[in-house]
Amino acid sequence: MTGRADRVPVRTDLEDLEPYGAPQLDVPVRLNTNETAEPPPSEYLEAVASRLGDLGLNRYPDRSHAELRQRLAEALGTTAERVWAANGSNEILLQLLQAYGGPDRRLLLFRPGYSMYPVIARVTMTPIVEHDLPEDFVPTVETVEKAADRHAPHVVFLANPNNPTGIRAEREVIRALHDAAPQALVVVDEAYVEFGGVSVIDLIEQLPRLVVVRTFSKAFRLAGLRLGYLAGQPWVVDDVRRVRLPYHLDTIKQLAAITALEMQDVFLEHRARVAAERTRITGSLRTMPDVEPFPSDANFVLFRLPQAKRAFEAMLERGVLVRDFSDRPRLEGCLRVTIGTVAENDEFLAALRKVAG
Ligand code: PMP
Repeated sequence: MTGRADRVPVRTDLEDLEPYGAPQLDVPVRLNTNETAEPPPSEYLEAVASRLGDLGLNRYPDRSHAELRQRLAEALGTTAERVWAANGSNEILLQLLQAYGGPDRRLLLFRPGYSMYPVIARVTMTPIVEHDLPEDFVPTVETVEKAADRHAPHVVFLANPNNPTGIRAEREVIRALHDAAPQALVVVDEAYVEFGGVSVIDLIEQLPRLVVVRTFSKAFRLAGLRLGYLAGQPWVVDDVRRVRLPYHLDTIKQLAAITALEMQDVFLEHRARVAAERTRITGSLRTMPDVEPFPSDANFVLFRLPQAKRAFEAMLERGVLVRDFSDRPRLEGCLRVTIGTVAENDEFLAALRKVAG
């Protein structure tokens, strides 16, 4: 007789993997996860609610979310067979690595970069190769060519604008990366592009292995909806279909996303306010002794300061939550603040002025 165990050990390679996620703390000023501070317009929720009665929820959803893909394609100026959606851009990235990653493939990442990339790589058993961005974190043609030559990756993830730096890569850098990695799926994660970066979505028909990933969580103000999408070649869509779970996008979500696309302009009009506040915050940070903000094209600002961890904790005591990156390689002494409402930003600046230095 073998003995009975009280628990089943997790996969050995996941033993030291902590569940990932920024703290969700109940504090008055939450500026740590890059959502948009302004909620979606009230007429949006009314429009969604008025359509709920027509949904036949006894039936499974449209597995291929055809209408949503058609509407996304129209919004992007492409065709539905080049578009695919999932539950947040994180799930898109997961599906891409399920399809193109795995133990005998290499994923190239740039440092610093988005912290979920290594986690998604790990759960899909995809080995990572990392390459440092230059000192000022600006991706250059030289950096991406060197990285691609050295590592011969099968997949590359590059966030543009980058998170947590907020810094953009120019279009020629993406082209150079695509050319220098001749086997690789080049995934450009444009989670923040609507805030001011440069998109390469128009290049998907020219660069055959380019995939652009976007989300409704940031500029579209619908982080609670969990919807992301990709645009690329039709074969990419065919391949992610192999790994997606059937009916992964529920019927209510498909309706809510289609309704949001119909009101696109109303959703995005807050961006000018975000840009103005970003300029104001960056300017104020520059006036504080020893505080160095990085220039940002996104809805957040990374800044370096002495005793960053102490400042993070002291701000939290005052009810202001930002993101602490000070322990991360290449980001020593760095904190990141999401652009909030004018009042929230004032509270952040006041708290930092009190605790910095
Ligand atoms: N990519 C980047 C660069 C991000 O910063 C985030 C969110 N923090 C995501 C992807 C994932 O966003 P979501 O899953 O909400 O679409």
